[in-house]
Amino acid sequence: MALRKIREMGEEVLTKHCKEVTKMNLRTRLLIKDLFDTMYKAAGVGLAAPQVGILKRIAVIDVGDGPIVLINPEIIEQDGEQTGEEGCLSVPGKYGIVTRPNYVKVKTLTEDMEEMIIEGEELLARALCHEIEHLDGKLYVELAEDGLHDVENEGE
Ligand code: ZN
Repeated sequence: MALRKIREMGEEVLTKHCKEVTKMNLRTRLLIKDLFDTMYKAAGVGLAAPQVGILKRIAVIDVGDGPIVLINPEIIEQDGEQTGEEGCLSVPGKYGIVTRPNYVKVKTLTEDMEEMIIEGEELLARALCHEIEHLDGKLYVELAEDGLHDVENEGE
């Protein structure tokens, strides 16, 4: 297991536009594995490559239904609306209220560089939108309707 350092809001790498992935190689496969290791260790539901300082269009998601790899993902359809709490491993200890589509259809590549369609509703739709925005250098804080709130520590 290899963990990478999660970059935090204020670091320039989180504001950059990421480059398309044109071929799969060992280095990129290791990056994907490390993204999962780092996300699970931090108890997150998604992590994008720029969050570990790599400007490639790659992200991983697991909202509890199993691992999803995104490579060069694009939202091709969206529908409905949901408003709810959203957080980010790059903005620790905070959350905001963000409105997102309730359904998205995403075109992506698999780890074998084959085209695949992923459909998500509710939390998965939110995670897909959030991670894809990271690849364009955007953080959810720009969308938070009444700013950022502190996460209360449970049990304290
Ligand atoms: Zn994030």
